[in-house]
Amino acid sequence: MKYTDEFRDAARVKQLADDLRGIIQHPWVIMEICGGQTHSFMHYGIDQLLPPEIELVHGPGCPVCVTPLEMIDKAIALASDSGFILTSYGDMLRVPGSNQDLFSVRASGGAVKVVYSPLDAVQLARDNPDKQVVFFAIGFETTTPANAMSIIQAESLGIKNFSLLVSQVRVPPAMEAILSSPANRVQGFLAAGHVCAVMGFWEYLPIAEKYQIPMAVTGFEPVDLLKGLNDLVTMLEQKKVGVINSYPRAVTLEGNMAAQASINRVFQPSDRAWRGIGTIPMSGFSLRPEYVHFDAEKRFDLGHIKTRESEVCIAGQVLQGVMKPPQCPGFGTLCTPENPLGAPMVSAEGACSAYYRYKKMTS
Ligand code: SF4
Repeated sequence: MKYTDEFRDAARVKQLADDLRGIIQHPWVIMEICGGQTHSFMHYGIDQLLPPEIELVHGPGCPVCVTPLEMIDKAIALASDSGFILTSYGDMLRVPGSNQDLFSVRASGGAVKVVYSPLDAVQLARDNPDKQVVFFAIGFETTTPANAMSIIQAESLGIKNFSLLVSQVRVPPAMEAILSSPANRVQGFLAAGHVCAVMGFWEYLPIAEKYQIPMAVTGFEPVDLLKGLNDLVTMLEQKKVGVINSYPRAVTLEGNMAAQASINRVFQPSDRAWRGIGTIPMSGFSLRPEYVHFDAEKRFDLGHIKTRESEVCIAGQVLQGVMKPPQCPGFGTLCTPENPLGAPMVSAEGACSAYYRYKKMTS
């Protein structure tokens, strides 16, 4: 398939891996921010091709994993109310809440609908004027433009029974939180190409300067991953600071200006809690005051939410790259994809599910 096969070409992959072995001279700790890249590394076996000097640590870029337990419990509370239809992407349904997940709410009669776009949820609101339709708006900058468009469309159509349960997060403040932590070991970042396709990489330049590290904007296919690593390791070996765009077929410095304009029209940066990590200043988006009537948390009394985290799950440390999934006492025994204790074992972008699926490891 054009635009795919050439980036999975075995000869190119082998050449890039050979090149990398020729470039590297020192041990380096490198974080791939995005859970999609974690899965790509393991799915294609690229991690097996890397020289031993590279230690990959896996970052917090799994939107399902970082959605706070409190927000999942709020979604469950809404879905359990007969006056509501809770809409969500499918991968949120099996994420454990304090007592149950959205799947089990649906099994016991709750109105939980899987949608492929927030615009489908807007349509659902038009079709069900007697219900309040709430879309569970999670994710990074990649999902934010479509969520903004749902608000713009709902407003232009005069739809009053639609709202968002917002848990939108931003990558740059999370990078800063990792780099400023006393436990940080990361010496260079592979920045997520799809986020940068939307936002550009201009926000990353001052972070690279401030923390004196290199970053490579990287795609998701095997050739993309190795190209990003080669560029990043070259910068590390040459003691260069800054951001290199290793994914120019999709990313520009400025990013998608129309998408950013729709985000800025509807959302504004705000403090956000990250599951297992805590609150990171200005690390999320919230609806602007003029759109507060679309904010489910502000519109509806969700009662007192008392959360209860698993005592076994170390997802917060996995998401910050401090520990790896097999170091979790529950990995592969108490916690499996069939019986997950934490979101990283459920999500298609979770590091725990990547180790379980591709490395066939147990603790
Ligand atoms: S293996 Fe399961 S319990 Fe352990 S950190 Fe991952 S999700 Fe949490």
